[in-house]
Amino acid sequence: MTQTIETDVVVIGGGIAGLWLFNTLNQQGYKALLLENATLGGGQTIKSQGIVHGGTKYTLTGTLTKAAECIAGMPDRWRKALKGEDEVDLSDADILSQSQYLWSPGDVGSRLTTFFASKALRGRVEQLKKADDFPGIFRHEGFRGKVYQLNEVVLDIRTVIKALVKGLESRILKVDWAENTRIVTDGKKIDYIEHQVGGETLQIRAKKFVTTAGEGTEDLMKLWGISEPAMQRRPLHMIMVRHRHSEPLFAHCLGTKPVPRMTVTSHPDGEGNWVWYLGGEIAEDGMERTPEEQIRVARRELVALLPWVNLDDAQWATLFVNRAEPKQTKLLRPDAAFIHETENGIVSWPTKLALAPNLSDEVMKVLDKEQLSPSGNKGFGLPENVQHPEICQPFWSEAFTDCHD
Ligand SMILES: Cc1cc2nc3c(=O)[nH]c(=O)nc-3n(C[C@H](O)[C@H](O)[C@H](O)COP(=O)(O)OP(=O)(O)OC[C@H]3O[C@@H](n4cnc5c(N)ncnc54)[C@H](O)[C@@H]3O)c2cc1C
Repeated sequence: MTQTIETDVVVIGGGIAGLWLFNTLNQQGYKALLLENATLGGGQTIKSQGIVHGGTKYTLTGTLTKAAECIAGMPDRWRKALKGEDEVDLSDADILSQSQYLWSPGDVGSRLTTFFASKALRGRVEQLKKADDFPGIFRHEGFRGKVYQLNEVVLDIRTVIKALVKGLESRILKVDWAENTRIVTDGKKIDYIEHQVGGETLQIRAKKFVTTAGEGTEDLMKLWGISEPAMQRRPLHMIMVRHRHSEPLFAHCLGTKPVPRMTVTSHPDGEGNWVWYLGGEIAEDGMERTPEEQIRVARRELVALLPWVNLDDAQWATLFVNRAEPKQTKLLRPDAAFIHETENGIVSWPTKLALAPNLSDEVMKVLDKEQLSPSGNKGFGLPENVQHPEICQPFWSEAFTDCHD
């Protein structure tokens, strides 16, 4: 038996981009479905550092780039959502830190002080003058550098995913493109998506199909039969360290390059400990290193930067992970959420977790332009016998099962 499901929009890929968009569509009364082939949030999203960037780290060279301009409004937008005052309600999500900090280990800071005081950055960066205002880790007598506070909240990403999914579970479908689901096309146009369940066929039709599949976009585009836009991967070799020091740390360490020398965020491991998660230059430069080599470099860096932190009993692990984005010349960082329209579809990447609202806004502009208005979604949902994807698990505790001491 075949059952047709008529929708306004089908979103494919349930990371931060797909979920923010899907939530927005639902709030506005669109009949929308989300299709996910693994777990919700389990791609780049849960592996991110959870910082809602306002673009400040992109200004480390001393010039205000387009990236910095575009992303500048994001922290306030997210804070509104976190207070439950935005269309997307994140009031159930947990904030790990109200601010991300910047610290200069030595004299790099002085060169940047004038720049930080400039009009362009007013309201985004504040130098902390009194040691009492410093995050705990820098209140040590051994610390000599400068500390700046950024207007960038750091989030517990799993709780963000849960908040975005809440109440919408019956409109989210677990798919397996090799087993039970296929895209039926007419040239470059998606005619419908066919899904088999319990001997039945669901024919899912939509006025617009939007892909937000992160690194999976390339394969999805093959199923769709399109080759544009091209995608790039920018790989990282991240480091995790669980140690005796009880303080969390949320800070970029200033180096001499445009990327921070090290970006540290801290995440609860579910067993009462903080795991420090290290990214930045060390992760970008660490692709050729084995996990053991990367851990050696990370240990040396932490000893050099924060010598008073006791790493004696620390447990270490690393993670190779790609950022997926639209192709740029010379693997440069794209500077805003990206959408590409093809027939009745849109291919998209947010390029940053922080830019998920921006991606959603851009898609909504296309719907507006095409006068694709909501057809109402009261009582709308998938048949009861379909499978729904799980919400991803935090990977911190598992990361240490093969850990290096
Ligand atoms: C280590 C690291 C740290 C980062 N830190 C930050 C940060 O602190 N702040 C920030 O702003 N950005 C950060 N980023 C970037 C940010 O994580 C990503 O830009 C963002 O999470 C991308 O979201 P997404 O929804 O596009 O992709 P993803 O989170 O990868 O989600 C894609 C989803 O689509 C699903 N999918 C894939 N293929 C298919 C298919 N064929 N059918 C159905 N579903 C499919 C996947 O299973 C997944 O759930 C970081 C990235 C990395 C790698």
